[in-house]
Amino acid sequence: MAQLTDDCFAFGGALMPVDAALRLIADRIMPVAETQEVRLSHADGRVVAADILSPIALPPFANSAVDGYAVRHVDLDPDAPTQLPLRGRIAAGGSATGLAARQVAVRVFTGAPLPDDADTVFMQEDAKTTPKHVILPPGLRKGANLRRAGEDVARGAVVLPAGRRMRPQDVALAAAVGIASLPVRRQLKVALFSTGDELVESGEVLAEGAIYDSNRLLLAALLQRFGVQVSDLGILRDDRDELAGRLEAAASGHDLILTSGGVSTGEEDHVKAAVESIGKLVFWRLAIKPGRPVALGIIDGIPFAGLPGNPVAVFVTFCHVVRPLLARLSGMQLSPLAPLEVRAAFSYKKKPGRREYVRVSLRISPDGKAEAVKHAQEGAGILTSLTETHGLAELAEDVSTIAPGDAVGFLPYAMMW
Ligand code: AMP
Ligand code: MG
Repeated sequence: MAQLTDDCFAFGGALMPVDAALRLIADRIMPVAETQEVRLSHADGRVVAADILSPIALPPFANSAVDGYAVRHVDLDPDAPTQLPLRGRIAAGGSATGLAARQVAVRVFTGAPLPDDADTVFMQEDAKTTPKHVILPPGLRKGANLRRAGEDVARGAVVLPAGRRMRPQDVALAAAVGIASLPVRRQLKVALFSTGDELVESGEVLAEGAIYDSNRLLLAALLQRFGVQVSDLGILRDDRDELAGRLEAAASGHDLILTSGGVSTGEEDHVKAAVESIGKLVFWRLAIKPGRPVALGIIDGIPFAGLPGNPVAVFVTFCHVVRPLLARLSGMQLSPLAPLEVRAAFSYKKKPGRREYVRVSLRISPDGKAEAVKHAQEGAGILTSLTETHGLAELAEDVSTIAPGDAVGFLPYAMMW
């Protein structure tokens, strides 16, 4: 496990800007070092551990992009139809050896290798044929309808950079250049807890004053989408000593400890004190809404992230703090979330100095532009504000009001995993 010094997240200010938190994460967290070789069929979602170079050119040989006729461009009349004798036939998987296109047309099919001297292919739909000849119209450019050797990937080029989290298209590219297995970082192991005396497992009887634990299921699902191995360690009571004991025990065998609830300043919020008794808690007031407070800390050299209790705050802080933290730990290069510019169809007032995320749905306005419609309920506990919307509108720190028609940045939920 990565060993961190206790003050690695130290920060002096009261409310920490999100970007400052992300810089600290990037600077102070080291990726897991262990790597393993996985077969390509198991590589989706894994993080590539080293630059992967292509052992071949892709395509490996020049080939036809269509069903048609391969020719040399110099044999064509630029101004009138050209009649050429038909000579040879090459299908996909066939061989061009011994065939040449000089002053003839060679029948070829999509994917077929081309004779070395052929530089242009006519689509069969554009050609007229007689039993022994083909008549080709003028005007086709040299190089048309063929795929040059190496036009996709040059031999030796980096096909997968270190830090790439494998997507289906990355798997396809690796397969296309003949790679059968890859070095990847080992999967992260995350210890997951909920905290709160009011929580019961869904499926159980709901006693007076109790609510079902939804955060743990939310976080487990988010973590799984991120390719993390989750240890679901259940619900912790609001008791400092119990919390301290269970959190410390979780530090061995995990790369991150993640909790929700209990990080505010209330008398019943014991997570902060528990972490301080066994490790170091380094910041816990983040300039983000919904979200604040978020605790980051170190327990026995392992990072600890304590998210708020309200489910919407859990979701938002997971996406904007835990996700970059996981990316860093897993050795993944995460491109920053790039909000799409859309038009606000709502008014909103906020305090400057903190970043806010508003749950919105998109609709297309009569003039064809995408508009963000705010969910009717803003509370950080309103789960349906997440299920009934398409994403988050990001309102930057310096913004204080949004009026209908203003441009806002939109982050679709699908962008966040
Ligand atoms: P806390 O920060 O612990 O005071 O929690 C804030 C709010 O979030 C309270 O209303 C809690 O009941 C609620 N909450 C905390 N943890 C969970 C959870 N695991 N599932 C659903 N709601 C929760
Ligand atoms: Mg609580």
